[in-house]
Amino acid sequence: MTAALYNKVSKTSKLGTLSWSLQAIETCPGSVGDDGELVAACSGCYATTGCYNFPDTKKVRADNKKAWQEAHWIQVMVKALQKQTHFSWFDSGDMYSLALAEKMLAIMAATPHVKHWLPTRMYKFTKFHNVLNAMQALPNVMVRYSSDAVDGTFGAGHGSTIIPAGAPVPAGVTVCTAPEQGGKCLSCRACYDKSVAVIGYRAHGKKMAKVIRIAAVAG
Ligand code: SF4
Ligand code: SF4
Repeated sequence: MTAALYNKVSKTSKLGTLSWSLQAIETCPGSVGDDGELVAACSGCYATTGCYNFPDTKKVRADNKKAWQEAHWIQVMVKALQKQTHFSWFDSGDMYSLALAEKMLAIMAATPHVKHWLPTRMYKFTKFHNVLNAMQALPNVMVRYSSDAVDGTFGAGHGSTIIPAGAPVPAGVTVCTAPEQGGKCLSCRACYDKSVAVIGYRAHGKKMAKVIRIAAVAG
């Protein structure tokens, strides 16, 4: 099982649960709009700033990109999740490959005791629809289609959006409480919860603040 040597599930300080990630932007084909530019939400992506640029952090993501392509990756991941109750995919990065998506589906199906949360923009690509629908049909999986907006708006089918700091909460949105909890989820598991339709994440960081200012002027 060579995948076990460099496959890395990580405990993120925010989530308090295990997570598996890839490098932002390079594994995010859904980050680019029809005009060839990054969509607003991805222009301000937190996973391109700060500690995400540390060599060790990048290495974990680069190693994971190799690991999933190994023959035994599914078994390695299922074993890593044996004692978990919750698991989050993609603190950074996205499910850029259909082959990766099919392996993730197999892991989700083989770990019914684990609640999986998958944020993604791969819904923009028709060839991913079958596998995304199969994931969402599993009782232990919440796939959240990310809105590209940074003004709190979202469309039908979206499971998350970004709300500017201080802006009113749009109807139908459950606001993430992490900012009031020292940046941690603590006991909240709303993102994994199928009964919570849309999560609103408060914009944070200088990069996102600049994107919001530009979007407000343009809008
Ligand atoms: S898809 Fe997510 S991780 Fe990738 S660039 Fe956009 S916000 Fe960042
Ligand atoms: S909504 Fe809850 S589970 Fe989701 S990121 Fe925020 S605090 Fe964590």
